[in-house]
Amino acid sequence: MLSFEEATEIVFAQNFNHGVERVPLHDSVGRILAEDVFSDIEMPPFNKSAVDGYACGSSIWPELPVTLEIIETIPAGVIPLKTILDGHCSKIMTGAMVPEGTCRVVMVEDTEMTGENLVRISSQSKGINICYKGEDIKTGDRVLEKGLRVAPAHVAVLASVGATSPLVAKLPRVGIISTGDELVEPELIPGIAQIRNSNASQLIAQVKTVPALPTYCGIAPDEGPELRKIIDRTLAGYDVVLLTGGVSMGDFDFVPSVLQEAGVDILFSSIAIQPGKPTVFGRRGNTFIFGLPGNPVSSFVLFEILVRPFLLRMMGNIPAPVMLKIPLGVDYSRRKSVRKSMIPVMIRDGAAFPVEYHGSAHINAYTMANGILDMEIGITGISKGELVNVRPL
Ligand code: AMP
Ligand code: MG
Repeated sequence: MLSFEEATEIVFAQNFNHGVERVPLHDSVGRILAEDVFSDIEMPPFNKSAVDGYACGSSIWPELPVTLEIIETIPAGVIPLKTILDGHCSKIMTGAMVPEGTCRVVMVEDTEMTGENLVRISSQSKGINICYKGEDIKTGDRVLEKGLRVAPAHVAVLASVGATSPLVAKLPRVGIISTGDELVEPELIPGIAQIRNSNASQLIAQVKTVPALPTYCGIAPDEGPELRKIIDRTLAGYDVVLLTGGVSMGDFDFVPSVLQEAGVDILFSSIAIQPGKPTVFGRRGNTFIFGLPGNPVSSFVLFEILVRPFLLRMMGNIPAPVMLKIPLGVDYSRRKSVRKSMIPVMIRDGAAFPVEYHGSAHINAYTMANGILDMEIGITGISKGELVNVRPL
């Protein structure tokens, strides 16, 4: 059986030729940049006052107080007309252009008006209070890199360099199929021996937050020909197909064989992890298929550790694997250690605490968890205080 690391190597080694598109700036948050972004201006674009105060010609005075004549008032957005000479100053607002001859801007708090056009400087703090032209960014500087996932601060940078329709990767279209004769849709009351289809809603929610474009393609029965029809239809219409259920060893688990009949090249069909052992991954042309186990926790965890980073890679983003190394808050043990275990934990007070967890059907456990603890193959016990690897959710 493949280790999780070997499985991720196979999944992440796939090559994609995913398309790009331009989006309005305000729709770019969460998207993956498909080109480097360069600045068309210097930042700041002019020598700018960092404070409300007085633009003065001296960098320091030998003795205080000193009284200066105010020759001009400079609001933000206005070009100053007068050069500062000795004994003069200009009243200046935050963000306004600093006039010629300015050595520093004295904060209004260090001054007091003594006449209509006279100001007395009573103390001198060290700051120059000038943001110099180009000190943050030069024209032509690369301000954002291709492959970056756009966060709100990046949107501000895009706006500041005039990149109002950034080029981003198209969102992968993801078709979602649930399988299982026992499933009914969430709006129905399950009959005896039935359960609600929670995986589809969960996967739709997970796909949206990547972000990618989920489409729900229905519940397929545990029956070969009908399952084949739905799979064929979905394979033709999406970049990625997510199936849940029907991948284990039961008499009615037809997903792997039907995928094979449909021409999918199965690249693996189990991983040495707990939960999520019977996970299937395959490819047909440019369509990628994940067959996730039906248990809601397995489906949830496999999406987070395998499908989410895969979707980001399709769009050209290599997510840095965020792993916290933090102490375990209590002693923890398990019986078998032939697989890597993924354990739901609550990170609080600088430590990880396993939450109450009854196994891979217990999706409620994950409503209490904000991290997944990796317990490696061969390890049966971890003591309180030992450092463990936790991926935050
Ligand atoms: P399977 O992988 O098909 O053997 O399913 C494993 C377990 O997960 C069974 O108890 C199923 O009833 C349950 N299950 C399968 N699909 C879903 C689903 N879409 N929503 C909630 N539970 C499911
Ligand atoms: Mg099933």
